[in-house]
Amino acid sequence: MSLTLNQVSYRYPGTTQGLHDVSLDVRSGELVAVIGPSGSGKSTLLKLVAGLETGHSGRIALDGEELSNTPVHHRNIGMVFQSYALFPHLNVLENVAYGLKLRKVPAVKRLRRCQELLDVVGLSDYAARGIAQLSGGQQQRVALARALAIDPRALLLDEPLSALDASVRGHLRDQIRAIQQRFNATTLLVTHDQEEALTMADRVAVMKDGRLLQIAAPRELYEHPANRAVAQFVGLSTLLPATVCANDRVDLGFAELAAPTGARRPGSAVHVLIRPEHIVGDPPPGSLNRLIGRTGAKRFLGALTRYDFEVPGASQSFLADSTKPASESISIAPEHLLLLDD
Ligand code: ADP
Repeated sequence: MSLTLNQVSYRYPGTTQGLHDVSLDVRSGELVAVIGPSGSGKSTLLKLVAGLETGHSGRIALDGEELSNTPVHHRNIGMVFQSYALFPHLNVLENVAYGLKLRKVPAVKRLRRCQELLDVVGLSDYAARGIAQLSGGQQQRVALARALAIDPRALLLDEPLSALDASVRGHLRDQIRAIQQRFNATTLLVTHDQEEALTMADRVAVMKDGRLLQIAAPRELYEHPANRAVAQFVGLSTLLPATVCANDRVDLGFAELAAPTGARRPGSAVHVLIRPEHIVGDPPPGSLNRLIGRTGAKRFLGALTRYDFEVPGASQSFLADSTKPASESISIAPEHLLLLDD
């Protein structure tokens, strides 16, 4: 099953807020994560696909079949929300069986399917438990089993891990991804947690102000962000204004550096993006793109130390990751200066 959004726009009545001309597709069995700042339209996108909001323009289709005219309960889409939204008066097994019962699946078949799913989410021994007797992580696994029980055409996950402790979150993230792959479920995941998106997704869609800025595989997004907004939202970086001053040279005001300028003409305004792992501490004198300065704040991260490096005249410090912070200079290889057009 593939999910396709084609030029989807939506406006909340009486406002200018919503979605603007969003086109994206989730291929069969793919997990696409949607990230973006609060208010960027992530939940709106999910609600439109689920049918919880209606009245958009453009097309939302599952395997080419337009969804607009299909009511929520006939879309056969599995959903897992941030609030576990389980039925508190039903036990674990009854919760998982809920959708199957609605669809009038015979009892024997229903039981077999539920047992299979509880096994997949590692809760076979909890079938008769009440929901209140489960931890948050267990409740979310029940919600996932319930969503998958109906053999959904697509799976929508809305911040499924955000209410959980960090220690549970990491583990459950891996579990959800493994189960999603095992079921080959076409999945749209909304999260505010970029690490979650980058680690779980086949592709990540970045939204801002109701628009889709870029959709790409995690590494592609990190290494080749389409613009400054994506660069700032995905991963850590130093982003500095600069002007192309000659072929393969940029002027940052406080220094001139070698960088691949491509087809840009001298005088073009750009921003230079540098990822922390690409900053080399204390290179030999005479190294290309060497900058003299001093180390500022340091944060110990175990294997690495993340530090600020202050260069006189620069409007902000450079953010660097290294096993050993620089003492008096840094350098960045030209190919690691990524230029983004203003
Ligand atoms: P996100 O999930 O990325 O935080 P939302 O999709 O919830 O963003 O919201 C997108 C925009 O639509 C925001 O500006 C938000 O204020 C607005 N919005 C969300 N829900 C409603 C609503 N029910 N009525 C009016 N505006 C809304």
